Amino acid sequence: MATARTTIASTRWERLKQDIRAAAGGLGIDQIGFASAEPFTELKHVLLRHREQGYESGFEEPDLDKRVDPALSLAEPQSIIAIAIAYPSKLHNPPKSEPGAYRGIISRSSWGDDYHAVLRDRLSRLEAFIRERVPEARIESMVDTGALVDRAVAERAGIGWSGKNCSIISPEWGSWIYLGEMITNIPFPPDTPITDQCGSCTKCIDACPTGALVGPGELNSSRCISFVTQTKGFVEDELKLKMGNRLYGCDTCQVVCPVNKGKNWTHQPELQPDPERVKPLLPPLLTLTNKQFKAQYGSMAASWRGRKPIQRNAIFALGTFKDRSAVPHLAERLQQDERPEIRGAAAWALGRIGGAEASDAVEEALLTEQHPQVREELDHAQAALQAQ
Ligand code: SF4
Ligand code: SF4
Repeated sequence: MATARTTIASTRWERLKQDIRAAAGGLGIDQIGFASAEPFTELKHVLLRHREQGYESGFEEPDLDKRVDPALSLAEPQSIIAIAIAYPSKLHNPPKSEPGAYRGIISRSSWGDDYHAVLRDRLSRLEAFIRERVPEARIESMVDTGALVDRAVAERAGIGWSGKNCSIISPEWGSWIYLGEMITNIPFPPDTPITDQCGSCTKCIDACPTGALVGPGELNSSRCISFVTQTKGFVEDELKLKMGNRLYGCDTCQVVCPVNKGKNWTHQPELQPDPERVKPLLPPLLTLTNKQFKAQYGSMAASWRGRKPIQRNAIFALGTFKDRSAVPHLAERLQQDERPEIRGAAAWALGRIGGAEASDAVEEALLTEQHPQVREELDHAQAALQAQ
């Protein structure tokens, strides 16, 4: 009798799973997978080792147990549903490059509306679909601010394999996907994980400008440009140059991935980019007020740390490009900006660009600057200018 009941129940959940799968496209979900809610025991060792080696970004959930045990987010969990939403990788109408008009670039992961909002919308549509059929279901949805490791869930649920570049790579969508998940108390039968298809390829590791991919699938966040662009403080000289014109995020290890070749997804309306916003001219960024920044960038994921990191990174880019026309803007920041990181960045950029006007600005700032780290940047800039 008990066996017959169990069979009826598992048939019910298998049928519901198939219904969800069939409905996913209509709910705006590109790929869906089902996983058991067992703890991610093996992952805990990896996370611990990363912590010990100083590879964490500091943006993660600090409680490692919460990151690996779904039961700490939802009592008596029975399954996890992983979803993926595909985003574009190509700019349809990129702004024309004009001599002397330097532009920065925002990572593809922040091209449209903030993906957290888009994922939340898709998860709540999915939740409504499930609740209509199972009103008593308990559900806990999460996007990357949740406790669980999205990539571990997506891998177990068969969304894709975990690439050497630390992205989940879906055979169909590539790694241009946002991931979200929901823990449920419904015992959906799990899907099968996908076998690793990186093979002997190491293109992502070879292309990483900072050596942040310290091994296959192992990231030292403190050297990853994507992470560094989101920090708010001073940045080491070596990394400043390697950041190039990246204002937020870094896509290099995904762009070079052969699986992503030709994959560009334009069907999710909220995720399509405005070329002028994602590849903006650099000097106008420097003087944006908080209000202007929010109006222009507030709907994008790239705005989550406020304007300072993006303005600082824009200054690094002007220095890296050695844009002489930017000197008056940089001198103004050095003299007037209240934020030491911005003054420090301006000092560094002026030292790289060189010339009499840059030199005057640095000398003048040295007369009054009090902040020790800005003074350090000014001293380096002065030495660089004298050597020129
Ligand atoms: Fe390296 Fe950029 Fe990939 Fe980070 S995002 S691992 S810096 S290529
Ligand atoms: Fe794997 Fe090669 Fe893609 Fe890296 S570039 S994730 S090694 S397939």
